Amino acid sequence: MSELKALVERISKLSWGKDRLEKHRLTLLFAKLAVFKFLGGCCVRCGNTDIRVLQIDHKNGGGSKHIRSVSGMTRYKRLALGQDDINKYQLLCANCNWIKRHENKEINQWPLL
Ligand SMILES: [Zn+2]
Repeated sequence: MSELKALVERISKLSWGKDRLEKHRLTLLFAKLAVFKFLGGCCVRCGNTDIRVLQIDHKNGGGSKHIRSVSGMTRYKRLALGQDDINKYQLLCANCNWIKRHENKEINQWPLL
């Protein structure tokens, strides 16, 4: 992923002073992309590689509760440092993630026509 290298260069040019918010935003994006790379870089169901729609899915559910309890940066950091079991997660695109939630009855069910 050349995006990671480009991000590191951009981040290194920013200061924690006046550029603090942008540096934090890009650092969070870097961590997210690094975890995407660990997880294969594409949706495990359809192969979509568009990072705008990729999501880290909790294979066995419980993602909403996890997201509410731990910040994004902390979640990405724990995964990148091996402090959380990467095997509990997979990459799904937004469409496949919603389909999986429906199949696993993780959400209120809409009748399919
Ligand atoms: Zn997909």
